[in-house]
Amino acid sequence: MKITAIKGFSDIFPGAVETWQWVEEQARRVFAAYNFAEIRIPILEKTELFSRSIGETTDIVEKEMYTFEDRDSRSADTTDVTKLTLRPEGTAGVVRAYVESEMYKVEPVRKLYYMGPMFRRERPQKGRMRQFHQIGAEALGRGDPFIDAEVLLMLGDFFRAVGLETVALELNSLGCADCRPGYRRRLLEFLKTREAALCDNCRRRMERNPLRVLDCKEPGCRHQTKTAPSILDALCEPCREHFAVVKKLLSEAKVAYELNPRMVRGLDYYCRTTFEWTSEHLGSQSAVAAGGRYDGLVEELGGPPIPGVGFAMGVERLTMLLRMKDSGAPRGPSVYVVWIGEKARDWAFPVVHRLRREGLVAEMEGETRSMKSQMRRADKLGARAVLIVGDDELQKGQALLRDMASKQQQEIALAEIVAKLISGKAS
Ligand code: ATP
Ligand code: MG
Repeated sequence: MKITAIKGFSDIFPGAVETWQWVEEQARRVFAAYNFAEIRIPILEKTELFSRSIGETTDIVEKEMYTFEDRDSRSADTTDVTKLTLRPEGTAGVVRAYVESEMYKVEPVRKLYYMGPMFRRERPQKGRMRQFHQIGAEALGRGDPFIDAEVLLMLGDFFRAVGLETVALELNSLGCADCRPGYRRRLLEFLKTREAALCDNCRRRMERNPLRVLDCKEPGCRHQTKTAPSILDALCEPCREHFAVVKKLLSEAKVAYELNPRMVRGLDYYCRTTFEWTSEHLGSQSAVAAGGRYDGLVEELGGPPIPGVGFAMGVERLTMLLRMKDSGAPRGPSVYVVWIGEKARDWAFPVVHRLRREGLVAEMEGETRSMKSQMRRADKLGARAVLIVGDDELQKGQALLRDMASKQQQEIALAEIVAKLISGKAS
């Protein structure tokens, strides 16, 4: 019986995985320049971590989490169960780790990044998977606008490093505990006058989370909220100042942005600066990266009142955009050793080993095959050079080196082969 993968979960095969590795490498390089360090957090966490941080009325917590009950294996008591959830995002886990380890006692300012799979039970479609991957970063311990700008510049630098010029930055401020409640009230009043025309989802969530209505993708809701009050007109003085500095720093660094006062983000923990990087080449799932400030989260998860700001980037959507640009096929082996006869094979095996130790990509067969079939295989693998050895050549102390592109061949002494191939490694 053939067993298939779960719907919305996919494999990443050679041919595609090279782009992933490259993207991850660029992220590590760019993030390191901003003094961010990697943190690796568990994929499974207690459910309450997410319900408390992301928010009970969000799509993720309401319906998208992969949750199951786990029983302590030492106890036979079935009431002793813990609810666990496959992480739907990374911020909650990073903050949990920061609080739990009391990292802040040694040094509250921590710049951390992570990469890995996330899980959400969403309807699978283009750009939307049930297991997807994020590269994210969190700057904890700083409430100043310079760090907001720094995080945005870092993302901008990363997009440049991977050669993505087509992403656009949308920016908003969600205010703070001082100014948002007033705005929320006014927005709710406005929405109540149009309640009948809103979608079921928005009507249901309106009282508890009116800002989410602004974010609804339903055309009817979008139309109704066109004239809704803007959060940017409702910011208190400190929030307005904070936002002004972020905008100024972006402009000075020549990072273009567009203000989008409707962008509220799906997660409850955001305040002040929020942002999304989108691409029109992605269709309706247009966000490549998103994030913002979350000053209350560390405290909400049991730590001291320490501010934070961060983002997460969807790697599937990013690599989709890079594939559109054609980032180049993976390269084949530098050398493929064709052997004819057992003696030649026994000579070739340790030679290939030495070449590999020297960092060359080398390949050979283990089973007897005709020369023609080995040459065909070298061609198929995209080998750049082929080294041909038969029993005769061995006796003469020589082998044939064939350049696959120019089709030129030359005889080289067996004793010099390793040195010769290594010196030509870069070519
Ligand atoms: P969207 O509005 O596109 O659903 P979101 O607000 O749910 O995004 P976040 O939780 O902020 O997204 O996650 C950050 C990024 O992770 C997104 O911008 C996107 O690139 C990616 N992402 C989120 N959900 C998925 C998914 N189901 N499949 C693939 N990528 C995803
Ligand atoms: Mg979503």
